[in-house]
Order: sequence, then C-alpha cells, then structure tokens
Amino acid sequence: MPEQKIVIVGAGISGLTAATSLAMRGHKVLVLEKQAICGGLVNSFVRDGFLFDGGIRATENAGMIKPMLAELGLDLPLFPSRVSLGVEDKIITADSQESLASYAKLLKELYPESTEDVEKVIKVIGKYDTYMQVLFGSDSPFFKDAKRDLRYFLTTFIVWIFRFLATGAAIMRMQMPMEVFWES
Ligand SMILES: Cc1cc2nc3c(=O)[nH]c(=O)nc-3n(C[C@H](O)[C@H](O)[C@H](O)COP(=O)(O)OP(=O)(O)OC[C@H]3O[C@@H](n4cnc5c(N)ncnc54)[C@H](O)[C@@H]3O)c2cc1C
Repeated sequence: MPEQKIVIVGAGISGLTAATSLAMRGHKVLVLEKQAICGGLVNSFVRDGFLFDGGIRATENAGMIKPMLAELGLDLPLFPSRVSLGVEDKIITADSQESLASYAKLLKELYPESTEDVEKVIKVIGKYDTYMQVLFGSDSPFFKDAKRDLRYFLTTFIVWIFRFLATGAAIMRMQMPMEVFWES
C-alpha cells in the first residue's frame, strides 16, 4: 500500500469521486472542504418554502457517468436533460434525436420563406449530433481494464478509435468564424 497521503482540496463531486477512486486503490486520502457540507454545486436548498437546485438539474451519461458509477459500485438513476426550445409562442421539447425533425418543422412553420436555409441548418446540426454520438455516445474506454476487457479492445475499441480520430479531425476543421463556415 502506498505510504504517501494525498490531499484533495474541495469536496465537490470531482474531489469526492477522485478521493473514492484513490481510496479504492489503497491510497491514503484527506479531503478538505471549506463549507459545512460536501457536494459543492451538487446540492439543493430551501428558501421561502421553495426547493432550489444549487447547480445541476440533469445528469447525462456522456460516456463517463455510468462506467464511473459502476467502478465505484454505485447504482444511481440518471436524470436526462430535457430542454424546451421556444420561438415566439411555439415551444418544442428537445429530448431525443427525433426532436431534430420537430425543430425543423418549427423553423419551417415560422420562416416558410427560408425553407432551404432551414434544411441546411438542420443538416449541420444532424452532423454535429453524429459527432457527439461518437465522442460521448458510448462508454469511455478509459474506464475499461485491458486485462479484463481484452475482447472489447480487440473489437469495439478498434472501430471506435478510428471513428474518434476522424471525428476529432472533422471538428478541428470547423475552427473558423461562423460567417466563413456558412459560406463554405
Ligand atoms: C447553474 C449551474 C447549473 C449546472 N447544471 C448542470 C447539470 O444540469 N448537469 C451537470 O452535469 N452539470 C451541471 N453543472 C456543472 C456541475 O455542477 C459542475 O461541473 C460540478 O458540480 C463541478 O464539480 P466540482 O467538484 O468540480 O466543483 P464544485 O462543485 O464547485 O466543488 C468545489 C468544492 O471545493 C470547495 N472549495 C473551493 N475552494 C476551497 C478551498 N480553498 N478549501 C477547501 N474547499 C474549497 C467548494 O466549497 C466546493 O465544495 C452546472 C453548474 C452550474 C453553475
């Protein structure tokens, strides 16, 4: 077991997760928190009879949370981010990939003279959504153990890493002013 003590400043979700992960690997950990309670921005408080979120209101897996919870031996529900999107008096809920079709419909109803432009915008959003699926749609390989999950590394990981690199390159190519992007 390592002799050194590791000091973590701040008992927010990051500090607590790091401390637990290190402790599980046999390290001695000291967590210092300046507030009376732990959790940092992951908290809620009551004022005038109303319950407020201190920070987070949704937890998405993003390829990280589920494998991290599994590693910590925790079974907690995730709360997906439900976003409502409104223009004038029309409001849609964006909570799945299908919501893109609702968004296209909404924009076309509002701006019938710009149907072609709306289709262009929707196509670009669809492309970004595909990139996001590659980056965050599957569990991060950093949580896999090469010894225990060899089959995963020889099959799923090899396919994913090529898609990941291609997506990274595509994102890098998008680094340009918005005006230039829309003209290209
Ligand atoms: C309004 C808002 C909404 C958000 N919504 C979401 C959401 O819906 N979903 C989501 O996933 N994320 C959301 N986030 C982001 C998420 O809350 C943060 O990414 C996450 O909580 C950060 O955790 P942390 O541990 O890094 O930092 P913090 O939660 O800020 O924790 C830092 C801790 O360190 C302590 N500290 C600081 N300095 C010292 C010191 N010198 N000595 C001792 N202790 C110290 C603080 O008191 C605190 O407890 C939101 C953030 C905000 C602000």
